[in-house]
Amino acid sequence: MGKDQERQIAVVGAGIVGVSCAWQLQKRGFQVTLIDRLEPGEACSFGNAGVIATSSCIPLVLPGTWRNVPKWLLDPDGPLAIDLRDVPRLASWFLQAQRTATAEGVHTASTALRRLHAPALIDHLDQASEAGCDHLLRRSEYLHVYKTTAAYKADRLGWKLRRDLGIPMREVGGQELQDLEPALPDSFACGVLLEGHGAVLDPGGLVKALASDFKSRQGRYIQAEVQDIMPGGPRGVSVRAGGEEIQFDTLVLAAGAWSAQLAGALGHDFPLVAERGYHVMFGEPAVSLNRPVMFAEAKFVANSMTAGLRVAGTAEFAGITRPAKQRRIDMLTRLASENLPDLNLDQQISWMGPRPSLPDTLPVIGRSHLHPDVLLAFGHGHTGLTASATTGRIIAALASGESPEIDISAFRPERFPTKSPGPTSGTIRTGREAAGAAG
Ligand SMILES: Cc1cc2nc3c(=O)[nH]c(=O)nc-3n(C[C@H](O)[C@H](O)[C@H](O)COP(=O)(O)OP(=O)(O)OC[C@H]3O[C@@H](n4cnc5c(N)ncnc54)[C@H](O)[C@@H]3O)c2cc1C
Repeated sequence: MGKDQERQIAVVGAGIVGVSCAWQLQKRGFQVTLIDRLEPGEACSFGNAGVIATSSCIPLVLPGTWRNVPKWLLDPDGPLAIDLRDVPRLASWFLQAQRTATAEGVHTASTALRRLHAPALIDHLDQASEAGCDHLLRRSEYLHVYKTTAAYKADRLGWKLRRDLGIPMREVGGQELQDLEPALPDSFACGVLLEGHGAVLDPGGLVKALASDFKSRQGRYIQAEVQDIMPGGPRGVSVRAGGEEIQFDTLVLAAGAWSAQLAGALGHDFPLVAERGYHVMFGEPAVSLNRPVMFAEAKFVANSMTAGLRVAGTAEFAGITRPAKQRRIDMLTRLASENLPDLNLDQQISWMGPRPSLPDTLPVIGRSHLHPDVLLAFGHGHTGLTASATTGRIIAALASGESPEIDISAFRPERFPTKSPGPTSGTIRTGREAAGAAG
């Protein structure tokens, strides 16, 4: 048996990030146990817009974004919502986000995200084809459309940043826009067509298919709530899940928007919040799109999938356990029917899920500086599907003691403070009580 084949690794969280980590670690020969309280792909990774968005590398908050915030908040159809009850807990997140919205901060974040997303499509295609589920995704372009040229011009900083990063794109308009997407009304003034993207036809199904391939290769799956993470002990780290305490050599924490509570037991203090998004799936849409389309003013994405046409978006900052808001669902439905007038609204299923978001728009990917037997992989915000396969490859390289092919210094955990004094071992509380504190 090789050295790696004797190493026992736990991955906590079976969303697209955790499952990709488990799959890539297993490929390296590690003995991997994946732990989740749910079946694979039932949380945020279930309901995303399905875009492998290699060009999405613009931070959430740009210099000047704050000028739009009052307008967005006052507009019931606006892309941003904040639950006032959560403002006290969210205030420091917004302050930190504002602090990174400088020319230098934006350059650093967009360059780092571009580096992470550039190999994303190839990594997804390789991973899915080896796991026998490449029928669930396809290569595609990504089209952003604008109703007015004024709105396009207002987004010029984002487009300049993408152009400077070498992202292949071109402006489209008029008849070409109609030819590309006949389902769009002719009221759209212009658009930008981006190459080198991917479209997932069933995002939750992709996670399940990867997890099923992992299990078929002797990967162990424990469906249980992780209650405690305890560094130290005879191996390196132990996990209490489902009343059982299990020892591992290494633990990968990939629990999406719930990761901060779990990392808190290790002495970390990540400012992770739940940035909730919604989707509405139209089962008999009567229209279809040839590629994912971002409606730039309304800030939602529409994508044709196996089960129908999905529209997804909105950024709602609210506690992770608060119920979904019907108003946001109605808003998405209304925007979808305004922007795609032939859309049949008869069969709808709606969904809400928490994006794991950090204030600098960058994920945490790397080894814990407090506990070297713990690897961290969470906080991917709006682009967790995109970055998941590459994140899995990075984590597998780190677990093997190699330097990843990509420079991951911008994602280092130590850019955030630790709790003071940092415990060397800890016990955490999870479940409803802890989840309620996730922001
Ligand atoms: C509306 C919307 C549209 C989006 N569109 C896109 C898109 O087009 N492209 C893109 O790249 N990204 C998109 N995203 C973002 C993307 O979906 C997320 O970044 C990604 O799903 C996060 O994956 P994850 O594995 O980190 O988290 P999750 O999928 O949330 O998985 C975390 C897992 O951890 C488990 N867990 C947590 N705590 C515990 C515990 N104590 N014990 C056991 N298990 C635990 C949970 O049960 C869950 O299964 C979108 C998001 C939303 C909301």
